[in-house]
Amino acid sequence: MRRVVCPGSFDPVTNGHLDIISRAAQLYDEVVVAVMLNPNKTALFTAAERVELIAEATKKLDNVRVDQFEGLIVDFCRDNDISAIVKGLRAVSDFDYEMQMAQMNYSQAGVETLFMTTNPLYAFLSSSLVKEFARFGGDVSGLVPAPVLDQLNRRLSES
Ligand code: ADP
Repeated sequence: MRRVVCPGSFDPVTNGHLDIISRAAQLYDEVVVAVMLNPNKTALFTAAERVELIAEATKKLDNVRVDQFEGLIVDFCRDNDISAIVKGLRAVSDFDYEMQMAQMNYSQAGVETLFMTTNPLYAFLSSSLVKEFARFGGDVSGLVPAPVLDQLNRRLSES
């Protein structure tokens, strides 16, 4: 089985992420979306909430499942029999860091990284920009799936 992983913070998942996930799902037998737990980063949503929102947004994609991990993505790959990481590239600014990570992961663990170019519709889109825009009353309804929009508005109105 050709199984790949799409790792990220997904705080929260956006239409840009979903575009990459659904395109990867057309190319591989199974896509595991792995929510990264980073204790040094303050997130708006808990890992469980992020997993649930991704699961809801990908429920029509039969070969996509959602999980979470802490530590090295290459260890997650080994434990889940995953041979490659799929990453979305938005702009040249993503490239330097992503290339370094990819080379590290290949040299240390033999795990390949495959880059998919962003859909130009979502090239400017990031979770942090969505949060910032929404926090100040901006309309992000075309940028995130409906359940994310609901949760985002609820969470921001609490804070
Ligand atoms: P961010 O917080 O920047 O949205 P994540 O860590 O959640 O990022 O992103 C996980 C992966 O999704 C990364 O490979 C990132 O490049 C990719 N990604 C994020 N947003 C987009 C987008 N709009 N188009 C394509 N890929 C994206």
